[in-house]
Amino acid sequence: MESYCTKRSEEPMTIPDSKRQRTSSYSSNEEMAASDVDMAEVDDSKCEDLEKGIIGALNSPKNIKELEEKKILVIGAGGLGCEILKNLALTGFKQLHVIDMDTIDLSNLNRQFLFRQKDIGKSKANVAASFVMSRVPGVDVVPYFGKIQDKDEEYYKQFDIIICGLDSVEARRWINAKLIEMFDPEDQSTWKVLVDGGTEGFKGQARVIIPTMSSCYECSLELFNKPTTFPICTIANTPRLPEHCIEWASVLEWPRVWGDKKYDTDNPEDINWMYQQAAGRAQKFNITGVTYSLTQGVVKNIIPAIASTNAVIAASCCNEAYKLATFIAPYLNNYMMYTGNSGIYTYTFELEKKPACPVCGSESSTVELDPNMTVSELIEWLAEKPDAQLKRPSLRTATTSIYMQAPKVLEEATRPNLTKIISELVQEGEFITVTDAALPVSLQLCIKWKA
Ligand SMILES: [Zn+2]
Repeated sequence: MESYCTKRSEEPMTIPDSKRQRTSSYSSNEEMAASDVDMAEVDDSKCEDLEKGIIGALNSPKNIKELEEKKILVIGAGGLGCEILKNLALTGFKQLHVIDMDTIDLSNLNRQFLFRQKDIGKSKANVAASFVMSRVPGVDVVPYFGKIQDKDEEYYKQFDIIICGLDSVEARRWINAKLIEMFDPEDQSTWKVLVDGGTEGFKGQARVIIPTMSSCYECSLELFNKPTTFPICTIANTPRLPEHCIEWASVLEWPRVWGDKKYDTDNPEDINWMYQQAAGRAQKFNITGVTYSLTQGVVKNIIPAIASTNAVIAASCCNEAYKLATFIAPYLNNYMMYTGNSGIYTYTFELEKKPACPVCGSESSTVELDPNMTVSELIEWLAEKPDAQLKRPSLRTATTSIYMQAPKVLEEATRPNLTKIISELVQEGEFITVTDAALPVSLQLCIKWKA
């Protein structure tokens, strides 16, 4: 809240003029347009209000009314979601909705403070909603126990601001694309701001996505979700870290010993087997630090959740929601990173729109492919390509279905194409449309052959 009265300071919120986006088309409402300009440019009366003190401005009947009238959707009622719901309710928002498809687990209770032991097994959304309503009189929280994909445009249209506290990239991609697809420039009511928070151990980020105006989640997909992977040759030949030994046990030893049998990351016997193998290998290479819980962490790809990181990021998201709802101060433009794992550091910068973004861009993207690659190699490439990350893509051109994941009949009919080389099916300059059932995104790839 400090930034309300630090007009001339060099807080991270202050963005160099050269980086500011024009916001004149933000809305016809003058107050909205003022929200992203330097505080010095805001009309004087508002500035005076702010300088008189935060309390006066926060308690103004206008702001209180804004909070009461704005309808906010919180996606996710986990570590971030609990914090976000609590903050919004205590800030004075009255109309909250929350979606979460998960149920409460014992391991959530150390940080998801809206839940108690007796709630284990129940819906996070339902329990969180009742808890907040019982503690904060006058606030209405409507829960939905299910997936965001169950809801349609009509549902999302009712909200003013949507805040995500999710741990899933897929869900973020889905809601981002949905809100941008919904936006109709002729109809202001379709214009929804997305505030997205994310944490990973001691690190976190908060961002504001204004449909079609600012960079969207998909524009910068390659920046995120880089899973920690180790080169297979290191794992196989020159391990140096306990993680290398665990990866060796799960990636190489497991299939060698158990063949096609998949391990179950929730089965303690399977984890224990891998732990024993990894410990043996670590001993051979004089590596220390292989433990059962590290094995579990590496195999399940778990990064410990830290309650205070959630609190920092949720606070930032809720401050943005507050500013976006009341236009009392400039909102985040458009990305704030918080790093607590080596000292403490925050930085704010503007992620740029990508002209060839499959969701908000208008240009198609040209890709250079090896004309001799097979269709199945192209599919693998799309899964690994940092700005695509499509796990089950279907591919077609204007005239041909190259490979379709569904329906079954089409999958069977196109399956023989998997082993064909791509240049047999597509010509240079042609477009391949790539879709993935899990995401409302389609990529248009203009094909160019590598020389
Ligand atoms: Zn985009």
